[in-house]
Amino acid sequence: MYYIDPHVHMISRVTDDYERMARMGCVAVSEPAFWAGFDRGSVDGFRDYFRQLTEFEPTRASWSGIQHFSWLCINAKEAENVSLSREVIAMIPEFMDKPGVLGIGEIGLNKNTKNEATIFREHVDLAMKTRELILIHTPHLQDKYKGTRMIVDMLLEDDRIEPERVLIDHVEEHTVRLAKEEGFWCAMTLYPVTKCTPSRAADIIEMYGDDRIMVNSAGDWGPSQPLAVPDFIQELRKRGMPDSKIKKIVYDNPLEFFRQSRNFKFTAPDTCVEEREEVLE
Ligand SMILES: [Zn+2]
Repeated sequence: MYYIDPHVHMISRVTDDYERMARMGCVAVSEPAFWAGFDRGSVDGFRDYFRQLTEFEPTRASWSGIQHFSWLCINAKEAENVSLSREVIAMIPEFMDKPGVLGIGEIGLNKNTKNEATIFREHVDLAMKTRELILIHTPHLQDKYKGTRMIVDMLLEDDRIEPERVLIDHVEEHTVRLAKEEGFWCAMTLYPVTKCTPSRAADIIEMYGDDRIMVNSAGDWGPSQPLAVPDFIQELRKRGMPDSKIKKIVYDNPLEFFRQSRNFKFTAPDTCVEEREEVLE
């Protein structure tokens, strides 16, 4: 089955991972900007990172026939450095019209601090000025419910927000309703230990339905599994879900959300070669 991984940090994965994902049916990935494992020291560090996301990663993905899209921001962990965050936010527009840039993300909260909230709001303001899509990271473990509540409240305070253009990521059993009920999209991250396992994600689909929801591997440099979406597909098949319904979650839903971005130029994998060449021209 063809699938899209809508949240995966490919810069921390090897080329073999792209190849294995392609063999399992992956046709596109979207890669949000994230923490590098260390705090970057200058706006130029981010400029180079954004070049990597928008120039080299799409090339490397294409070697395996995968289409690569990206999201730009300074992440919540580095938001404590408010002056650097503001320099990065001021620089982001240099990249917003590059091919494949879908919007602002993954912004959000980490420890739910005042500085994180300030920088979250400033990213949202940037996104609203040019009507970008927004992809949101919600905090880990004990901070998750409170952080998700704070994020939803900040979004609702801003009357420019169109909920169907916002994706709230890393939802779990206790936050999925909070994310979905105001009309936002949401996503579940399939991690080997924390966040959701494929079977917990399948339970959530059974309880809350398959509208405005997607799954991702969030593969990164920590313990993660870039083939987690195929594991989820397999879990749903074992439960007897027909492929047409599974496809909605792993392919149709990400497409529906991404299509709202003016930079989303997608070539469907079943397009014949002649049509593909036309699209590429
Ligand atoms: Zn991430």
